[in-house]
Amino acid sequence: MKQVQWSNWSGSVRSNPRTVLYPTSIAEVEKVVRMCRQEGRRLRVIGSGHSFTPIAASEDCLISLDRMQGLVHVDAEARTATVWAGTKLKLLGELLFRQGLAQENLGDIDVQSIAGAISTGTHGTGRAYGNISTQVVGLTVVTGTGEVLECSGESHPDWFKALQVSLGTLGIIVQVTLRLEPAYKIEYESRRIPLGECLKQQAQLAEENRHFEFYWFPYAEPCQIKLMNKTDQEVKEHRIKDYISDVLVENTLFGLISELCRKVPKASPYVSRLSASQVPLGRKVNYSHRLFATRRLVRFNEMEYNIPAESMNAVIEEMREELSRNKYHVHFPVECRYAKGDDIWLSPAYGRDSAYIAIHMYKGMQHEDYFSAMERIFLRYGGRPHWGKMHHLEAAQLRELYPMWEAFRTVRQELDPDGILLSDYMGRLLDVSGPSPVRSVILDRIHNI
Ligand SMILES: Cc1cc2nc3c(=O)[nH]c(=O)nc-3n(C[C@H](O)[C@H](O)[C@H](O)COP(=O)(O)OP(=O)(O)OC[C@H]3O[C@@H](n4cnc5c(N)ncnc54)[C@H](O)[C@@H]3O)c2cc1C
Repeated sequence: MKQVQWSNWSGSVRSNPRTVLYPTSIAEVEKVVRMCRQEGRRLRVIGSGHSFTPIAASEDCLISLDRMQGLVHVDAEARTATVWAGTKLKLLGELLFRQGLAQENLGDIDVQSIAGAISTGTHGTGRAYGNISTQVVGLTVVTGTGEVLECSGESHPDWFKALQVSLGTLGIIVQVTLRLEPAYKIEYESRRIPLGECLKQQAQLAEENRHFEFYWFPYAEPCQIKLMNKTDQEVKEHRIKDYISDVLVENTLFGLISELCRKVPKASPYVSRLSASQVPLGRKVNYSHRLFATRRLVRFNEMEYNIPAESMNAVIEEMREELSRNKYHVHFPVECRYAKGDDIWLSPAYGRDSAYIAIHMYKGMQHEDYFSAMERIFLRYGGRPHWGKMHHLEAAQLRELYPMWEAFRTVRQELDPDGILLSDYMGRLLDVSGPSPVRSVILDRIHNI
């Protein structure tokens, strides 16, 4: 019951939960939820703390499923697997691989928990592939009333569409059933081409490659494109070369020049141009779960918006104009990706094939002006923020962006009628309030007598 200090990966969010709990079974999760409900306390659930917003933070009770990891059941014929919700993606990839299975797509890191990743609509890139939540075919959840709910598209169609991206506000997800593919290899290729050329070809590249993304460095003309396609080739690992490019160049060296930019922000455009000219190029072949993820050792803050796929070029042109009008001190690249539209109520890709544009700023450097200016552009194109990344939107604006907003709030009320799963931040974001903090403090005192 000792108070601890908690911080997210980038250090942008800090909180002091009064209680941190690590249950090891569904029964223990039920017990925690019932205790919180009885005592009028608030409960948030944490994955790996890799969101940039206070979406997982708690000032009261925090629950982590780090001790609920691993495979529960594999159905080889149906190509599905049920896994404990706390399982980290890296471990999940290896466990599935041993069963001859793999996820169809992943984001660019693999340290998140599967429940944390799906709860914010975490995505990778690929026109034909939705975000990770679209891979979910079943969930076991301990709701805000402490009941265990087995939920799928067939058993509870509405609840399921709300639960697939639910921001930790409908219940504690304890098990996730995923739709999978037979394990497969990917050939990865990194090339450098002029940004103008890339913009001309981007729609076609996205169409013709299983996974395509590009990194555009502000103030620089060359950009990096990454192509990933299925292959039968032998695994080609160049351990030393990969270590040099992934760890020494993309992390150690980039970390050092980022420190230089923090101390001398005016150097940022030069550093951005230098980085663009030095991106590691080449090819490698490996099993998918080992290739999608990259190492991110240099800490930063990030904003990412989903926009309609066809707006990619127009948004980038406006971003370039804004960057040339106002010289922002930024040397981190802009990451541009794609996702297939879906029907998940709070998924940023709801109802539209999408592009995602992510902007970054080195930790410790001022990001506000840059992020706000770019956000105004994203919003002009109907942008929807990534739930785990920085944004300035409030409930009134979010309601306009999500056709199923009210339906989600109705399910929220059904599954957590006392609002115990809401922090102040989540209450504001969804425009609902949780139990009165006064009641919770009084009960806590009574409890301690
Ligand atoms: C370096 C870096 C790279 C990233 N790359 C990508 C990327 O490529 N693509 C992308 O889309 N995003 C990316 N992200 C964002 C990240 O994937 C999301 O923020 C993700 O939600 C973080 O997962 P987590 O396990 O850390 O969850 P947390 O950040 O801890 O929690 C996120 C949400 O999930 C909820 N939650 C966690 N566990 C449960 C549970 N058991 N039941 C119910 N709710 C739960 C929490 O309450 C919270 O609302 C990146 C972030 C970082 C820091």
